[in-house]
Amino acid sequence: MDECIFCKIAKGEIPSTKLYEDEKILAFLDINPAAKGHSLIIPKKHYHTLLDLPHEELKELMEIVQKVAGAVMSVVEGVQGFNVIQSNQEAAGQVIPHLHFHVIPRKQGDSLNFAWEQGKAEKEELEKYAELMRKRL
Ligand code: AMP
Ligand code: ZN
Repeated sequence: MDECIFCKIAKGEIPSTKLYEDEKILAFLDINPAAKGHSLIIPKKHYHTLLDLPHEELKELMEIVQKVAGAVMSVVEGVQGFNVIQSNQEAAGQVIPHLHFHVIPRKQGDSLNFAWEQGKAEKEELEKYAELMRKRL
């Protein structure tokens, strides 16, 4: 993954504003933040999506996501909440194809909008999808 910008950041080839680093994980501030304190957490190794990350590596990564969220809640002025966003594939809005979690600080009435229009589903349809999906879990 020679061209991957997050691989380059992980290797220190591109500078970043680091928050946390260990052998496998890096957390740093987003260069174009949606809000002050907007943070990114990545595995240093290149994985495209959440489904590519080995199961055993998820726990440690999520622990850092939780820690960064805690830091955001203690430090960002006026912060009242946060979103954890993680997009997979271009169709879902993933721009950088290296697995990453966003932690985005929120304030009541801020201009960020991650809402969607609520759809409708018949019980039959819910059952159909649940039955198919349960077989894959
Ligand atoms: P996504 O749209 O989920 O793929 O998010 C990619 C994020 O990476 C965006 O929020 C960008 O602002 C952020 N980003 C891109 N380049 C850099 C960089 N060099 N340092 C820090 N954040 C970056
Ligand atoms: Zn990468």
